[in-house]
Parts: sequence; structure tokens; C-alpha cells
Amino acid sequence: MNLLDGAARSYAWGSRTALAELRGLASPTRHPEAELWFGAHPGDPAQLVTEAGPTSLLEVIDRDPAGQLGQAVAERFGSRLPFLVKFLAAEEPLSLQAHPSLDQAQEGFRRENAAGVPIDAPVRNYRDASHKPELVVALTEFDALAGFRVPRETIELFALLGAEELAPYQRMLEDQPDATGLRTLFTSWITLPQRALDAVLPAVLDACVRALERAETTSDRRFVPELRTVLELGEYYPGDAGVLAALLLNRVTLRPGEALYLDAGNLHAYLRGTAVEIMANSDNVLRGGLTPKHVDVPELLRVLDFEPLPSPILEARTLPDGSVRYPTPAPEFALTRVDLRSGSADAASAPYALDRVDRPRILLCVHGHVQVRAGERALPLDRGHALWVAASDPAPELCSATDDATVFVAEVGSVD
Ligand SMILES: [Zn+2]
Repeated sequence: MNLLDGAARSYAWGSRTALAELRGLASPTRHPEAELWFGAHPGDPAQLVTEAGPTSLLEVIDRDPAGQLGQAVAERFGSRLPFLVKFLAAEEPLSLQAHPSLDQAQEGFRRENAAGVPIDAPVRNYRDASHKPELVVALTEFDALAGFRVPRETIELFALLGAEELAPYQRMLEDQPDATGLRTLFTSWITLPQRALDAVLPAVLDACVRALERAETTSDRRFVPELRTVLELGEYYPGDAGVLAALLLNRVTLRPGEALYLDAGNLHAYLRGTAVEIMANSDNVLRGGLTPKHVDVPELLRVLDFEPLPSPILEARTLPDGSVRYPTPAPEFALTRVDLRSGSADAASAPYALDRVDRPRILLCVHGHVQVRAGERALPLDRGHALWVAASDPAPELCSATDDATVFVAEVGSVD
């Protein structure tokens, strides 16, 4: 068991305050801080804090996969930590994207290898042969686009906008208000010649402005967040087909503790907020716009799931011990939230004991301050910090050192 120093990633969409404040450091920072990675990703592994100094978690696992990961995990996932967990702080929208299924990733990886596309080439879609399911749990209010909205509601949105330029596209959905209609419409938008896009987009943005003005004078607040988001994306990415695509997606605001699970083929974009995110340890992203990076439209169309998603927010489950589980089908990871209390003599203030499993865990403290005890060892875990518990360590116990504290427990989902 060791404290774990995350690998900080500075992307332009990051925040200069959120991650520094979470960790109790001076803010604003010089550069935007977007992500803090806790994992053993070869590109940027976290560092264990040891008496001998910082040691790469990747190297520690490489030296002793059975001891660090446990025998079953090492066998199932090829001696690699199968998940990556991170803090994420978005100040600006991220790219519109989807991730492949396991079959699609294996096929795509083979195909691009056979075609001789270098693994680090900017046009490379598949940098490994893994799928990349993602789970994001909000720490603040967290805005995102996730999955296709039910077409009937999107038709209402188009009718509210009332733009003549949208009429032919509205008819596409009215003729086929299902996954097929969404595929037809999305495909025609994402493949529109720039000249056609430059005619439709300004008309749509004008219609959004007018609809927002009407919403202010009436009490009809329907689609207000959707309209604001489309306008904001139009400002960040003028002339980008992804702005039109945003009209088709669920616009969600997670409250702290709420989560989204992004399964293979789910078209999504994070817009703003701070979150804990856990995913399979993969880099496979197909982008659909809202980015200066490589966009491969045919490949994106191949992996997208056009089935409408009526309720994109994940149903969390409260377990008998009071902890909250975010259930997903991903074998690579599982995430549980533990809310601790101290100071009173009730059951809730007793130490929270994790069960003994021959698997690794990463504990992330997001609120308060906890003492983590495993056998003879005890370590303090502060807000914004993380701890590595190897499979061979005794099962840890968590005790809140503040009035209350919140810890996320990241672990492997299943070795079957
Ligand atoms: Zn994603």
C-alpha cells in the first residue's frame, strides 16, 4: 500500500483552478490542468510514493504482476492493470467522440497494422486492440452530450427552431423516427460539403438565438440548455458539422454523485465540470468533430450506435453497507463510492472495511481526510489524493479523520 502521485495532463480544455483546488494547491495554475491520471498507462504511469523515492506503478507491476495485480487479474488481462482512473476538469467542451467495441477494436487494430500506419501517426484510429468503455461520476455539476435523443423529441426541437434550412432534415426524422432515421440524418450532416454546411449552420445558430429570446419572454423553458450548448459549440467550432450533430444528442447535467456510462458506439462529448472517470486502459477514440484533431468519418459511422438512448444517466445502486456502486458491464473496472462519517458513536462512523480480494485497488479521496489502515500499516489520504493497494496487501480499512469524507474505490470488474 502506497500513496500514488497522479500524472498531470495539460490540455487546452482543462481548468486552471478545479484540480489545484481539489488537491489543496495554489490556484489559478499557469497552464490549464485537464486530467490527473492514476494508473499504469505506458504513456503516463502514476508514481508510487516509496521510501526510496517515486517509483513508476507500471514498473512495479511489470516486476511482480502476480503480487501487485493478483494471479487471476494477471492471467485475465495479460499482466497489465486493466483500468485507468482519473480526475477530469473541463472548462471548455471536449471533442465529439465514440469508442469501438472489443471486436471492432481488434479488427481495426489488425487492419491498420496490416496497412502499415505507424502506431503514433495522427491518422491512426486504433492504437491498441482494446475497447474503451468509460464511466464518469460528477464531483461538481457536470454537463455532457451523451447518446442520441429519442427522435420524437428531436423533431419537437427542430419544430421549435422553425428554421427553413432544417425542414428537409426534420422530414428525414419524421419519415423514420428511429435508429435508421438517425443514421440517415447524421450521415448526411457529417458528410455535408463545407459550402452546404456554411449555409445551414448560421441559419441554425440564428434560430437558436431567436428560440432563446422567445424562451425568455414566455415561460416555456424547453430545450434551453440544448440551445445554449449548440450556440456555445458554434462559437468554439465555427463551420464544424459536430455543432449540427449536437442537436441530435441528449444534453445532460449530472449532479454531484450522478454518473454516465459510455458504452461502445455511444456518441458523446463532455462539456464542463469536474469528475472522476474510470475506463478500460485504451486509447481508441473515433472523433466526430468539435476538435482540430483527426476525424475519420467512415470509421466513425462504422462504430456508432444509432439506437436512441431515452435515459442516459446511470442508475447507481446503494449497497447494504451504505456504499454506492456504479454498475457497468465492463470487466476491466468497477467503481464504488464510500461516504464516511466520524465523531459520533453510530454505526456510520465505524471504520469501513473493504473485503479481502486478491485484486488491486486504487482509492481516491474527493472530500475530507481519511486514515487507511492495512495490517500494520496506516497512511493518511487527503482530498485530491490517491492510494495504491496491491493484491498482496491486507484488506484496507477506511476511517474518516474529518466530520465526513468521501472515497472512491476503483478496482477490476470481473476476471471471468
Ligand atoms: Zn470518450
